[in-house]
Amino acid sequence: MTERVEVNQPSARWPWQRSLQARILLMYGSVFGVVLALLMLVIGRAVYQAQLANAQQALEVEAFLAANALQDPLSGYADEFKAHERDDDQHDDDKHDRDKAQPTPTSTQSQVSRSTPVPASTSSKAAGRLQRVAGQYAADTGARVTILDALGHPLADSAYAADQVTNQLAQPEVQAALHGEARPDVRRDPLSGTVTLFVATPVRQADRLLGLIQMGRPMQEVAASAWALLFRLGMFGLLALLLVTVLAVGLTRYLVRPVQALEKAAIAVADGDMGQQVPVTTADELGALARAFNGMVDSLRRMLEQQRLFVANASHELRTPLTNIKLRSEALLDGPTDPAVHRRYLTEIDREADRLGRLATVLLDLSSLTDSGSRLPPAPVDILPVLHEVIDVMHLRTAQAGLTLTLDAPAQLPQLRVRPEELEAVLLNLLDNAVKYTPAPGAIALTAQADGSRCRLCVRDSGMGIAPEELPFIFERFYRVDKARTRGAAGLGVGSGAGLGLSIARALVEQSGGTIRVESTVGQGRVFEIEFAA
Ligand code: ADP
Repeated sequence: MTERVEVNQPSARWPWQRSLQARILLMYGSVFGVVLALLMLVIGRAVYQAQLANAQQALEVEAFLAANALQDPLSGYADEFKAHERDDDQHDDDKHDRDKAQPTPTSTQSQVSRSTPVPASTSSKAAGRLQRVAGQYAADTGARVTILDALGHPLADSAYAADQVTNQLAQPEVQAALHGEARPDVRRDPLSGTVTLFVATPVRQADRLLGLIQMGRPMQEVAASAWALLFRLGMFGLLALLLVTVLAVGLTRYLVRPVQALEKAAIAVADGDMGQQVPVTTADELGALARAFNGMVDSLRRMLEQQRLFVANASHELRTPLTNIKLRSEALLDGPTDPAVHRRYLTEIDREADRLGRLATVLLDLSSLTDSGSRLPPAPVDILPVLHEVIDVMHLRTAQAGLTLTLDAPAQLPQLRVRPEELEAVLLNLLDNAVKYTPAPGAIALTAQADGSRCRLCVRDSGMGIAPEELPFIFERFYRVDKARTRGAAGLGVGSGAGLGLSIARALVEQSGGTIRVESTVGQGRVFEIEFAA
């Protein structure tokens, strides 16, 4: 049973930090929100400006129409402007004083002033007619109408008593009108206290300036439809956000599902279930992750299987000589036996003990070799003497086995960074196997080739070869193709007969930075190829 490893989780301050789905949603939602806000800002600004331009134009047209009516010679209003002009000098001083005062009107005051006639004087009759005109146009257009004389003095106002209104000559729209331009102005009206859009149009007769019409409309009214549109837009945006969120919840759930499956599978693997595989449903990074996970579980399973096999094989290998020793020692303890049998048992016990010792040494060597990784020898050496040495050692054995042994190597080989005794052990292992698995008459050849900076050593035999399905496993510890075929065979190779020779050879070669591989065809022998970089 595997023990679960608890990994420290990074602390999550907010609940959404614990859910990938919530984080994706939050990021997505904030991006959408920002885009929506920007869009509303841009659209709102454009709509507001369009509304303002419309309102300006409409107000200018209305002021123009009012001015047209006033300047019509048949209307007789020109006389009233003139009558007021005559009184202007007398009233100038009084008005100037009143202009300074800051009245604080209320809407009630406005209403009152509309219905209250201007006090009687020489000009009051004229002002009274103009007052009615102003009231009439204000009722028609819904805007505030002020009629000014040519010097900017108010003669009539639709919302206030004329004497409450200050001189308007300095106002930008009045100045523009006097210069024949139409330039509206937006400012806070001191009488109503609201931000108001003002336009002004001159009232002329022939070349004579009679006065001006000034019209004002509160910006609240101008912007009302823009705000209403923006509100509708905002509501629509919120609805869209809601819909998108609902959609995104579904989508993110679909996106996160493989990750959750992966987490579940990883926990199961940690609990020892090596049969876990997650479905690869997409071709993206998540699919790649799932594939990598499945691959990882596969290799983990293989490694565990190898480990289990190794333990089983090792204990089996150790148990056989132990059983042999036990049987013989019990027989000896059971009572006096024939001295010849006695001696034979003792010899066999001694041989089995040696075998056990050798096996233990080989296993220890092998684990220290595979643990230490790559360990290149300090200086390159000439390997030709090593090749001649192994041929000399194997010569007699191959001859006795009815096999020929040849060495094919150039006179010069690049020097290699290998340990001679280790290279000798590897080659002896390969040659030993070749002798064991090649029936007489047969041939074994050791060849060496230099190819640029690489040096290749091959051990070839004409034996029975190895079946392709066995090839991937023959370098594994304790692996033997035919378990019964060679047990106990005493060879020269290290670990010979126990299925350890090739795994030791591979560990030694790889430690010196080389590679070892095998090619084999059943019935045509096989070739082991070792390659080192010079
Ligand atoms: P062993 O000591 O049992 O020979 P090895 O690790 O050296 O163990 O070899 C592993 C297995 O590979 C052997 O049991 C044998 O079945 C197979 N093998 C190795 N060399 C040869 C060969 N030259 N011809 C056929 N089979 C071979």
